[in-house]
Amino acid sequence: MYGNNKQCQIKESGREERGAKAGIHPASTLSCENIPQDEFGRPLGIFTKSQATFKNTGVERLHNFILQDQACKLLPKHRVCNCLKKRIDKTKDRLVKYNVDRKKAHWSNVQRCGCLWIDPVCAKQITEGRRSELSAALERWKKEFLGGCLLLTLTFSHSLDMPLSASLLGLRDAYARFVGHRRVKEIFKAIGVENKIKGLEILWGQNGWHPHNHILLLTKYTVLGFESYRDELARLWINSCLKAGLRSPSMEHGLDIRDGSHAEEYISKYGLPDQNKWGLPEEITKGHMKKGRNGGFTPFDLLQLSIEDKPLYGGKLPSKLFQEFAFAIKGSSQLVWGRGLKKLLCIEEKTDQELAEETEKNAIELTSVTNYGFTLLTVFQKRHVFLDCVARDYEQKDGFSSANALLDELHFKYLEIQQSKQLE
Ligand SMILES: [Zn+2]
Repeated sequence: MYGNNKQCQIKESGREERGAKAGIHPASTLSCENIPQDEFGRPLGIFTKSQATFKNTGVERLHNFILQDQACKLLPKHRVCNCLKKRIDKTKDRLVKYNVDRKKAHWSNVQRCGCLWIDPVCAKQITEGRRSELSAALERWKKEFLGGCLLLTLTFSHSLDMPLSASLLGLRDAYARFVGHRRVKEIFKAIGVENKIKGLEILWGQNGWHPHNHILLLTKYTVLGFESYRDELARLWINSCLKAGLRSPSMEHGLDIRDGSHAEEYISKYGLPDQNKWGLPEEITKGHMKKGRNGGFTPFDLLQLSIEDKPLYGGKLPSKLFQEFAFAIKGSSQLVWGRGLKKLLCIEEKTDQELAEETEKNAIELTSVTNYGFTLLTVFQKRHVFLDCVARDYEQKDGFSSANALLDELHFKYLEIQQSKQLE
């Protein structure tokens, strides 16, 4: 064990010795709660782009912890900045725990932001939870209520200069007008719609922000012949958009309604990074910008692109787009269940925060890490690598040798950097 342990004490005393020579700050000033930053907000200037560059050979999504660091850089006042960094109990060290079911290590005694729009680490945890809620709900709806399900998608036309906040307001208004319309209610009744679950997705592409809704329509029975209402529903949707001040979507693209197999596919892929959507940086890194991309970028695509921050369509910078997204999305729910529906289908009400913290259940404590050790991991962006090392060492009953080796390596790297700064 290390952290508050022998290994780390050796390290700490070694650090002091060398530190005295190199004149580095004592550990108390190198604290994760107060990491010194360079003019770009990067911790200590140690952060290098090399960790975060795209490979021309294809697309490599960066680790969520690296993307989380990038979100902190773009939104320095957002609570994501404390996520998996700041301690809950400051009198104790940070811990590494191991979730026995998932066979994965995670940080403990650290705050979690629970921001699914902004933080890819929390988002993964939350959407996994939401996905299993959705599939449990549909399963129960089919088995116990002998019901069916349809997937309705609502989109509208938008342009590159339309701010996301305006688009979101318009979409919300148009949706309320649509579902509140007498004729829509009649059609929904005719096809047996009893409940709805509304999902919000946002992409950005050649035509700017593209917020849209996917709605699961839970029906009394398996519906046949719903397609005959499609055109009428599409016209009603177009009218709702126009009344909400949005540009008219086309008859072809504004509204889409599909059968239960599509609804099930939507649920099974809910919140997963779409491999097709994630096909983009190749074009960007190769400079084939004009080619465009049909699917558009997800906000987390933009977050990753913001590291290199090359201009996209219309000269828009990924960093600015992500910041705009973060501001506009505040307070929006990703999923809205019909009133009483969760209770009906025996789905426990859980907040995003609760889901983000769920990993702590059924976990065993493996080790602790001192503030100094954790700061090294943060500064060198190795929090996730360390977790993998601890998990692997534990599984191989290896006495945390690779985890300790990583801390050692970072410690000496830090000293070297300090020494070279002294020589400059
Ligand atoms: Zn978070």
